[in-house]
Order: sequence, then C-alpha cells, then structure tokens
Amino acid sequence: MLDLPTMDDIELRHKTVLVRVDLNVPVMRGKVTDDTRIIRFVPTIRDIIKVNGKAVLLSHFGRPKGKVDEKFSLKIVVDSVEKALHKDVIFISTDWNDVSEAKKIIDDAPLGSIIIIENTRFHSGEEKNDIELAKRMASLGEIYINDAFSASHRAHASTEQLAHLLPAFVGRAMQKELRALSSGLDKPAHPVIAIIGGAKISTKIDLIENLLKKVDGLVIGGGMANTFLYAMGIGIGNSLCEKDLSETAIRIMDKSESEHCAIILPVDANVAWKFEANAKNRFYGLDAMDPNGMILDIGPASIERIKGAIDEAKTIVWNGPLGAFEYEPFDAGTVEIAKYVAKRTVEGKLVSIAGGGDTVSALAHAGVVDDFTYVSTAGGAFLEWMEGKTLPALLALKK
Ligand code: AMP
Repeated sequence: MLDLPTMDDIELRHKTVLVRVDLNVPVMRGKVTDDTRIIRFVPTIRDIIKVNGKAVLLSHFGRPKGKVDEKFSLKIVVDSVEKALHKDVIFISTDWNDVSEAKKIIDDAPLGSIIIIENTRFHSGEEKNDIELAKRMASLGEIYINDAFSASHRAHASTEQLAHLLPAFVGRAMQKELRALSSGLDKPAHPVIAIIGGAKISTKIDLIENLLKKVDGLVIGGGMANTFLYAMGIGIGNSLCEKDLSETAIRIMDKSESEHCAIILPVDANVAWKFEANAKNRFYGLDAMDPNGMILDIGPASIERIKGAIDEAKTIVWNGPLGAFEYEPFDAGTVEIAKYVAKRTVEGKLVSIAGGGDTVSALAHAGVVDDFTYVSTAGGAFLEWMEGKTLPALLALKK
C-alpha cells in the first residue's frame, strides 16, 4: 500500500480545508436510509473544527449527468450530517461554473464552520477530471483532504486533479481503511483465505488472478462457482453458469496449482426449481444433482469444509455472497459462514476484511458487520484494490 501523507503531517489551525467525502448515500423518500459513510468521516471533520479550521465538504451524489438537477441535490444529506456531527451545517448551492458567490460565503463563515457545497457532478468537468473545474474548486480552500476511499478508483476533478493543486492529505477514515486493507492483502498474517462469491465469474476474473498470487486458499461460492463445476464436468442442471468461460475457469485452476493456492469449491448445494423466496428446495451432493434444478446456495458439507479452512486461517478477505442471499432460505450458507468468521474474529483468531455492496448487505443481514475487523463500504474501489490496482486518486496524493 502507498505511503501517503496524513492529517498528522499538516497544521490545520484556522485553515479552510476542502474535504472530499463520499455523500453518495442510499436515500428513500427524501431520507437517508444508511448513514454509515457519514459516520465514518466524522473524525476527520472533528479534527479540523477542533482547531478552528473550516471544513468544506465536496462530494458527488447519484448521476446527474453533468447538469444541475435538483433531484440530485446534496441538500438531502444536510440533516444527517448535522446529526452525525451535532453541529449546524452551511449549505452552498452552485452550478460550479462560477464559484465567486460560494467563495464569499466560505470566507464570511465563522471559524470552525462545517460547509457542504453542492454535488460536484452538477458540472460535466467532474467526471472528465477537468483542470479548470479543479482550479475553481481549489480556489475555495487552502488544503485538500481525501477521505473518500470509495470514490478513489475514479480520476475525477474532485478526487484526482484537485489533489495536484493544493497540499493534499488522506483523512482519518481513509487512513483507517488503507491500514485495514493493507493488513488484508499487502502485509497479512498467513495463512490468508479469500472468500469469493456473487453471481458471475466474468466480473471478477482480474480479482481472482490477483488473489491467486497472494492468498493461500480461495473459497469460491455463489453463482460463479457453477462455472468452475461445469468446467470440471460436474452436472449443474439449470443453475446460473457462464459456460463460455469454462476455459478461463480451467486456466485459473491450473494457475492455482503453480501458485500453491488451494481452491475450495462447493461439494453440495441447496437446489430449487424456482428462483424465488421459499421456493421448494432440497440438498444435493454435487455428484447427484437434479438435471432440472438450480443451485441457489452451498450445502451443509460445503459449509463444514469452508469452516475447516477458516479454522486454519489468520486472515480472511471476503467479497460476494455464497448464495442467492436475498431469498430465504438461500441465505443460510452466507449467514452461517459470516457468523463463523465473525466469531473467530471476536475470539482474536482472525483478521477479517470484507467489502462490496452486496457483501455489506449480506453481512448486515447476518448481523455481523461490527464483529468483522473491517467492512469497507466501497464497491468499485474495493474490487479494484482486490485486483491489485493502484487507485488514481490515491496516486495523486503521493508526494
Ligand atoms: P455480485 O454482484 O457479482 O457480487 O453478485 C451478487 C448476487 O449474486 C446476489 O444478488 C446473489 O443473489 C447472486 N447469487 C449468489 N449465488 C447465486 C446462485 N447460486 N445463483 C444465482 N445467483 C446467485
């Protein structure tokens, strides 16, 4: 992991600090439904205002396609940010074409103010990493802090370009996230086991290839395991499968041998005939699968095997559910393994790192998010980290 400058490396007293946060939070009927991302950047903002700095929060929200669109106004998060920080927030509207009015409001705000400025994606220059837009942003502050790991896989004006224009640092949430991720794959305690699930192998080929080089065991579950089973000549009935990727699956299995990485595939499954909650279901050994059935979850023998692997591990990295966890009872495998990883973590036997949108939902469903060592709310950025890529917004912070 990169060695990046942190807030400990800069004097923030009385400074106006632009903080790139991730306010792209889930919203329903005008209300924020999950404030995890907001709670996480609170320490950064507190560290700025406690020395009478002004914190100016920058973020994207949704996909307004480079135009002002009130549906995507960041006004919607103001209440939640005020609640999280126990402090009033000043909100500034702008189309980002002319920021002179915004600058005046920031200059006139008392020291220690918290200011949210409108959606950076209200201007098309944001996603184009446009230097002119980044210069306008830079004119609003003296220091730049990136505290949005989840947005750092994108080279946008507020994540990448801006970091070149002001003294730039990582925030407290980002610092914690990078430390946790580093303990997962960069400098982990071995043996390391990766648990990879989800629907398809096609979206995770680069990720698996990178993991093979780094981990000692790779547990593959979910729909993507079916492609491996099919490639091995095992009957999978009507299960989700990317048959055209059989050769890729074989190549991955061959490579796992040369990399000394054990691949652990399901040996049994919970099978249904309809893809819906509470569909009629039955456990099958994978040597005797019903040709009309669909594998929707791992079975009890697979669960025991995976638990055995977890018993050996000192580090677990997890992305992707092991079954169709949104539909009961096909959540059972994911929930049981999640609880087992959580238990071993709480007992101090394991460092456990998980991330990705569906993975966070699955762990929340199992009620174990707080028992893992670290759960990243990042989707794309977490996957790119697992693929071994250096995220562009982080590279921009490197001195
Ligand atoms: P991903 O976005 O690739 O991580 O995939 C997550 C999705 O995979 C979830 O919506 C799960 O319902 C789905 N999934 C997991 N296992 C299976 C399976 N055996 N068959 C079909 N879908 C699955």
